Amino acid sequence: MTSATPRLDAELLMAHALGVSHQDLLLKHLGDPAPASFDALVERRLAHEPVAYITGSRGFWTVEIGVGPGVLVPRADSETLIEAAVAHFAGSAGPGRVLDLGMGPGTLLLAALAEWPGATGVGVDASDTALDYARRNAAALGIAERVDLRRGDWATDLHGQFDLILCNPPYIGVGEELGPEVRDHEPPAALFAGADGLDDYRRVIPDLPRLLAPGGIAVLEIGWTQGEAVSALMRGAGLDPVLHHDLGGRPRAVAAKMPRN
Ligand code: GLN
Repeated sequence: MTSATPRLDAELLMAHALGVSHQDLLLKHLGDPAPASFDALVERRLAHEPVAYITGSRGFWTVEIGVGPGVLVPRADSETLIEAAVAHFAGSAGPGRVLDLGMGPGTLLLAALAEWPGATGVGVDASDTALDYARRNAAALGIAERVDLRRGDWATDLHGQFDLILCNPPYIGVGEELGPEVRDHEPPAALFAGADGLDDYRRVIPDLPRLLAPGGIAVLEIGWTQGEAVSALMRGAGLDPVLHHDLGGRPRAVAAKMPRN
């Protein structure tokens, strides 16, 4: 597979090689000669390594998320979840407590905490690598004191209630085809969820009603064919699911609100 964004990839690698931002590359450095280190970066990209692993970070919503092998690279599609949350809390003080189940490098949690400076958050992940990245990212963004990051198995050890619950679980079916960037480089534990890709929704969704505060919302990322199946699991837990679409017009998230008492 060739890159879908070869020009952008090359720009990001050149900016990295020059030690400048992407914006400054385009504004000030387009005529600069390529540094010697550039060729090695291109070689890595030609071997399908994700650009974000090579440069060490990816922009997501308003924040920069440090990443590397062992954590899922933030996707623009996942901003659909933040948009759904922003729409829900529009005109209010915003969520007080945020929970990110399977936070990886902290993508959704840190974007939410940057959006609502008065909020605190809990992030749970089963991977120590993810915890390390999330801790460093929280510190780099200056919001370490607002996050509580824990190693855990989904919501099993969690108590209390949250105004906003975000979750991008693994949802790829074991037999599904993936491009080499994802298949050969990203962590399988963050991608695959049983034969139908639904195993982790089955584990997470039953806990949502007890974790959701009155007036709160849970937003789960889904694969674009999974809207019906995940909605059915939500209804089975007594929730009232609503689909949200990504910029490509495909179903990308299922949300459920907890009515106010
Ligand atoms: N959207 C990712 C992909 O298809 C999958 C992420 C996930 O399983 N949560 O590459």
